[in-house]
Amino acid sequence: MTKFNTRLVHGTPLNDNNTGAINPPVYTTSTFEFPNAESDVRWDYSRSGNPTREFLEKQVADLEEGAAAFAFSSGLAAIHGTLTIFAPGDHIIVGDTVYGGTWRLINGYFAKHGLSFTAVDTRDLAAVETAIQPNTKAIYFETFTNPLLHVTDVRKIAALAKKHDLLTIVDNTFLTPYLQQPLTLGADIVLHSATKYLGGHSDLVAGIVVTKTAELGAQIYFAQNGLGGVLSPRDAELVRRGIETLAVRMDREDANAQAIAEFFHDSEAATVVHYPGLPDDPDHAVAASETNGYGAVLSVELAPTIDASRFVDELKLFRLAVSLGSVSSLAELPYTMTHAELPVADRLAVGITPQLVRLAVGLEDIDDLLGDIKQALAKAEK
Ligand SMILES: *Cc1c(COP(=O)(O)O)cnc(C)c1O
Repeated sequence: MTKFNTRLVHGTPLNDNNTGAINPPVYTTSTFEFPNAESDVRWDYSRSGNPTREFLEKQVADLEEGAAAFAFSSGLAAIHGTLTIFAPGDHIIVGDTVYGGTWRLINGYFAKHGLSFTAVDTRDLAAVETAIQPNTKAIYFETFTNPLLHVTDVRKIAALAKKHDLLTIVDNTFLTPYLQQPLTLGADIVLHSATKYLGGHSDLVAGIVVTKTAELGAQIYFAQNGLGGVLSPRDAELVRRGIETLAVRMDREDANAQAIAEFFHDSEAATVVHYPGLPDDPDHAVAASETNGYGAVLSVELAPTIDASRFVDELKLFRLAVSLGSVSSLAELPYTMTHAELPVADRLAVGITPQLVRLAVGLEDIDDLLGDIKQALAKAEK
C-alpha cells in the first residue's frame, strides 16, 4: 500500500471518466438513468449514493484504516447518525467535556428517546469502569478535549471496552487520521466534524463516520440513507480537496501552536498553558505515546494582570471566532463564546474561567502570530 501522504493526494481512483481529468468528477446530480427497467444499477439516487461523496468516503475510510465511511451534512449529523445504532434502554458513557453540540444532542434529544448517558473524565480508567452498567453499550469520547486539551488513552479505554463487550467511539476531529488513527488503537467507530481540519478552509460544514467493520458500516449506512443528512457532492469535493493538503497544513499548524504554547509557558502573561505538546503538561506522556503530534489548538489561562476580553479584541491576525482547523488563526473566549451554554458553576468547575483564551492556530508566519499576541497583551495589560 502507498504511504499516508500519497494516499492524501490520490485516494482511490473512480476510473469512470474518459476525459483524462486529473481530479475526480463532481457529480451534481440527484438521480441516475437506468439502462432499462430491470437493471440492477450501482447508482440510482444521490441520497443513497453519489460517486463524488463515495470517493471522499473511501478515501477517509482508507486514511483511518476502517472498513467503510459515510459523509454527513455536518459533524453533528454524523454524531446523530452514529448514536441511532443504539436502542431505547441502552446506556452510553461519554467524556465529561465533549463538544457542546454533542452534549446538547445527547441530553436534549437522545435522553428523551430512551438512551441514558453518564459523563465521566475518560482519563480516569477506574471511573470509567465504575460507570459501566449492565445495559452499557459504548464509551464515547474525544481524544483531545476542547478547550482544555485533556488527553484520553485510546488503547486503554478500548481494551476496557472490549473486556465489557462495549463499542469504543472516538470523535477524532482535533487530531485527524494524520495525527492519530483510533481504529488502529482498538476503537470501533471514529467520527469527524470535517468542517474543521479535513475541510481545512472554513468554507463548509461536514461530518464523516468511519467504522472498523462492514457490519457496523451497514448500520451507519442505514442511518445516513434513512435519516438523510448526507453531504452534498459539491461539499464532498471541497472536503476531498482540503484533505490533499492535510499533512502539510497540520505540520505547520502544529509547529506554530508549539511555539505559541512555549511562548506563553515562559511568559508572565499566562498562569497555565493547556497544550499536550509541552513536556510538563500533565497529559504529555499519553499524547506522546499515541499521537504523531499535538495538534493546533491550545488554551491559555491569562494572568489576572491581563484583561482577557480586551486581549482577544486587540488581536488582529487571530480573528475572534468560534471553530478551528482552518488555514487562518482564530481566537475565542470559551467562557462567553463556545461554552456560554454551560451553567457558570459547571464552567468554573471544569476550569473554563473568564481568563481562559482558546487559540486555534493557522498557517501564518510564526513571527507575525507571536507579534500579534505580544501587541495585544501589551494593550490588554491592566
Ligand atoms: C465542531 C465539532 C463538532 C460538530 O461538528 P459540526 O460540523 O459543527 O456539526 C463535533 N465535535 C467536535 C470535536 C467539534 O469540534
